[in-house]
Amino acid sequence: MIEMKDVWKTYSNNVKAINGINIKIKKGEFVYVVGPSGAGKSTFIRLMYREEKATKGEIIIDKTSLSTIKEKHIPLLRRKIGVVFQDFKLLTSLSVYENVAFALEVIEEAPDMIKRKVMDVLDIVQLKNKARFLPSELSGGEQQRVAIARAIVNQPDVLIADEPTGNLDPDTAWGIMDILDDINHRGTTVIMATHNKDIVNTIKKRVVAIEGGRVVRDEIRGTYGYEA
Ligand code: ADP
Ligand code: ADP
Repeated sequence: MIEMKDVWKTYSNNVKAINGINIKIKKGEFVYVVGPSGAGKSTFIRLMYREEKATKGEIIIDKTSLSTIKEKHIPLLRRKIGVVFQDFKLLTSLSVYENVAFALEVIEEAPDMIKRKVMDVLDIVQLKNKARFLPSELSGGEQQRVAIARAIVNQPDVLIADEPTGNLDPDTAWGIMDILDDINHRGTTVIMATHNKDIVNTIKKRVVAIEGGRVVRDEIRGTYGYEA
């Protein structure tokens, strides 16, 4: 369902971030993306949700080619792909409920559906009891769970997470992994860039290692493979 064919990305400052990547990710997979800092992991991920355009090559998401997609169809693509970041990116003046509902309001979902869908995803991330809280009233792990709820409330086919546990202590990080695993078991493809060696080596999944903008390793049940 996600395919990259000979994809290259050179930034405007001439940095060659991705240098000829070929990869296929099937529906329902869980993929860790690992590699040293500056290897190109974030660029690889940003190409998938069309935050960056490839310089060369073809990226296909669920039969849609990102090189020929019309600007007006990008919002539809983004609905198929939920994204979670290391720094949560919540709206600080909105409550937990409102942060999640916002993703549905922008697509003009019916009000009664919004309420149901928001409470359903807050249940998945175990934050129903904190729906009225502001992000500043939550722990880091809770804020990341709100970000995950927001990312999945449109029922995307793919959830992309760029170092989702990067700002969290180890115990909290494991809690986030439980939730991502749960979401994956419900059928969503999960792609997670991470430096968390313990998690990758314990919860075994497909591991794609990127170095110098190329895939240097791709293992079905892989290991982290670097010093933490
Ligand atoms: P990683 O996520 O593995 O740390 P990145 O994809 O962020 O790697 O970066 C790969 C390379 O591209 C690095 O040399 C980085 O400095 C460069 N880079 C990343 N984003 C940009 C950008 N927006 N503009 C220019 N260069 C960038
Ligand atoms: P963690 O152990 O995950 O880092 P914290 O110790 O930060 O969590 O928070 C413990 C609990 O207290 C959490 O459920 C959080 O929602 C709540 N909490 C933390 N800070 C505040 C605050 N300023 N106002 C209200 N509740 C808070």
